[in-house]
Amino acid sequence: MSDAAAFGAELIKAGLLLETGVPGLYGRSGTFEAVHDGLDAWITRIGVAERAEIMRFPPAMNRKRFEASGYMRGFPQLAGTIHCFCGDEREHRALLACIETGQDWTAGQKATDAVLTPAACYPLYPILAARGPLPPGGATIDVMSWCYRHEPSDDPARLQSFRMREYVRIGRPEDVLEFRQRWLDQAPVIGAALGLPALTDLANDPFFGRTGKLKADSQREQGLKFELLIPVGSAEKPTACMSFNYHQDLFGTLCGLTLPDGSTAHTGCVGFGMERLVMALFRHHGFTPATWPAAVRATLSL
Ligand code: AMP
Ligand code: ZN
Repeated sequence: MSDAAAFGAELIKAGLLLETGVPGLYGRSGTFEAVHDGLDAWITRIGVAERAEIMRFPPAMNRKRFEASGYMRGFPQLAGTIHCFCGDEREHRALLACIETGQDWTAGQKATDAVLTPAACYPLYPILAARGPLPPGGATIDVMSWCYRHEPSDDPARLQSFRMREYVRIGRPEDVLEFRQRWLDQAPVIGAALGLPALTDLANDPFFGRTGKLKADSQREQGLKFELLIPVGSAEKPTACMSFNYHQDLFGTLCGLTLPDGSTAHTGCVGFGMERLVMALFRHHGFTPATWPAAVRATLSL
């Protein structure tokens, strides 16, 4: 068993994670959620100077808007779509017969207007664009969504369904870069406040296929993505618990986000992987928050 799988088994044995029988899909205990809630409130406090507008989204988003985001070009392997039964009574009988006999009953399911949200900031760009040109200072939004990514794994930190909290900056390129740099500079402070060994490093997204390799290389060359890495499942290979992204004018162009002078807005976001951070806390401080260092408990109001 890998280090990560062993840590997952420990979390399950301790009752912090509740097994569903699907890798990467877990229920969480009250203790896990208390730590999550403390972390969530702390993220609000450390972001208070952003004076961000709050938006909270459901786990699913508009399929048309998702298509327009280009997600299927970059990450078809991760996307989760929502399909439903839309047939008549005859088709219903056939469906039930398939289930009863253990045959595939899903082939006839039809795509709905919704897909699972891949990242918390995706639903926000079209909503912002619909308001018209941005105000002169641009905008800063505090978003949270349950996100879905099809990457089943026995590493408890690699979930299929997880919560992502983000601060998203929309504005001139220099506004977005200043915002991202400010959060990158804060990264060691975040690690220290949580009592976690954290490093920041250049990163890339897991783009699909052969052209994906070129996209990933170019993303690295341009320094568009950084991650805060903390050992969670594995001691040797630390896990990305936060990311600091600069999208340039990608979403601005796709969604029609404009600045008062008519130019296309640039965007960037700072994302917190909530479950990963909670698991990192359990990994490094033990499974009983009452015994954690006083400073960490104070940070998380535990
Ligand atoms: P990304 O958009 O890939 O940079 O994701 C933002 C953050 O979400 C990452 O830094 C992780 O902390 C978290 N995250 C991404 N994928 C997963 C996953 N499969 N399971 C749990 N957390 C994830
Ligand atoms: Zn984002």
